Amino acid sequence: MADLIMVVEDEDNIRANIAEFLQKEGYETIMAKDGEEAIALFDENKPDIVVLDLMLPKIDGLEVCKRIRQNSMAPIIMATARDEEIDKLLGLELGADDYLTKPFSLRELKARIKAVLRRTKNTQSIELQEEKMVFGSLEVNTERREVRLDGKVVDLTPSEYAILTTLCQNVGRPYSRLQLLNATLGESYAGYERAIDTHVSNLRKKIERNPQKPVYILTVYGLGYKFGDQYEVVN
Ligand code: CA
Repeated sequence: MADLIMVVEDEDNIRANIAEFLQKEGYETIMAKDGEEAIALFDENKPDIVVLDLMLPKIDGLEVCKRIRQNSMAPIIMATARDEEIDKLLGLELGADDYLTKPFSLRELKARIKAVLRRTKNTQSIELQEEKMVFGSLEVNTERREVRLDGKVVDLTPSEYAILTTLCQNVGRPYSRLQLLNATLGESYAGYERAIDTHVSNLRKKIERNPQKPVYILTVYGLGYKFGDQYEVVN
């Protein structure tokens, strides 16, 4: 699933430009033109990340940020017109995750979004790393970077290991090839989504009893892959 980004910006042309750009980059977007709409749309849609203009009609960006933080840890990137405002914002410790000074380029916006999403996702996986994950006969120990099938260590390449751990930390959640590519090789390889198929095919040969009838790495048609939750199947 693509990350859902909420952009809060009162200037129509800036908002439209950002929306078009982010959609082209593969994100899903929701747009809000003032603070009131931002709060309503946030509660309704639970976006993965918010890009929030500071100066907004009705309810300003500071207040929007505070209200979102009351019941959500979704990352927030604040956009401000002047450098001085950033010091003020930092001093307020509102819980925003990053800042952009206006005018910013779309490239810069994209870089910040990626960085913030990567950071928040890494934090989540660090929490998960404390335990050894067991899926039927398959054991994944991310602390030791070790994968065992029926108790025997399986040798995986770094890409295979990254795909496996990405999928198995969110059992049942479908990942697109592009998301898996970002998780394994990084954004510089965009356009090589099909390489994921090769890695998955090799990974299945190593961890599936019957690679033709996988129980761990399942295909999500038209999208990518997900980790299965039925391991009792004897092929
Ligand atoms: Ca504004």
